[in-house]
Amino acid sequence: MFTNAVKSIHRGITSLAFEEVCLICDCKKEFLCNECGKNWLHKAKLIKGEAFPVYSKVPYDEVAAKVVLSAKESGLKQAKNLLVSALVETTLELLKSIEIEEERIELVPIPSSRTSQMRRGEDFIYQLTKLTHSKLISVAPLLDIHVKRILRVTKKLRDQSGLSEHERDLNLTGAFHADSKYRNTSQLIIVDDVITTGSTLREAYRALKERNLTVIGAVTTCASQRRLLIR
Ligand SMILES: [Zn+2]
Repeated sequence: MFTNAVKSIHRGITSLAFEEVCLICDCKKEFLCNECGKNWLHKAKLIKGEAFPVYSKVPYDEVAAKVVLSAKESGLKQAKNLLVSALVETTLELLKSIEIEEERIELVPIPSSRTSQMRRGEDFIYQLTKLTHSKLISVAPLLDIHVKRILRVTKKLRDQSGLSEHERDLNLTGAFHADSKYRNTSQLIIVDDVITTGSTLREAYRALKERNLTVIGAVTTCASQRRLLIR
């Protein structure tokens, strides 16, 4: 009788502790319920229209925007986990497509501007990249994969939201440079959370190629719907 009471209390506590509320619809199923999260079940895909391979997974819609924001601004762990899983999948998909199994690979996060880093107290993409790296080596322990912060922001960037595609390109031209002390023969993969116009990834690619580094591609969690639909 006593044990049963304890058991039932224990069940009550654990179910409370693990109760998840959907970020979007508030249903009490999961952090992102099946209905709201259906786009997150898509397979990682190659995005067309860039001069180098870019893999992404989730169409950037209102749901994805809310997940990214919750991870970025509120530091929600479940939201970060969703982004990390997507980055793990896209990275594995990119690696599968080029078959360079025995080479050293380095994940290069897109650097954040100093102001956004100061506001949040952390470099968001770098944190995501580190989490992605730990998960990758746990699912694929034979991968010789590392994280390297080679890129730096060299000029003051305007907030990208609200800028046209052309303005974004102008804003980002010459915005990054690769650490001149960095010399390596590793294969590099650029990591970012979202690709919309692609100007950030192109600028990162340009800065790395300027130093004659080998870039095998880029991975992001989300891509504008237009870009993910183009096959
Ligand atoms: Zn839901």
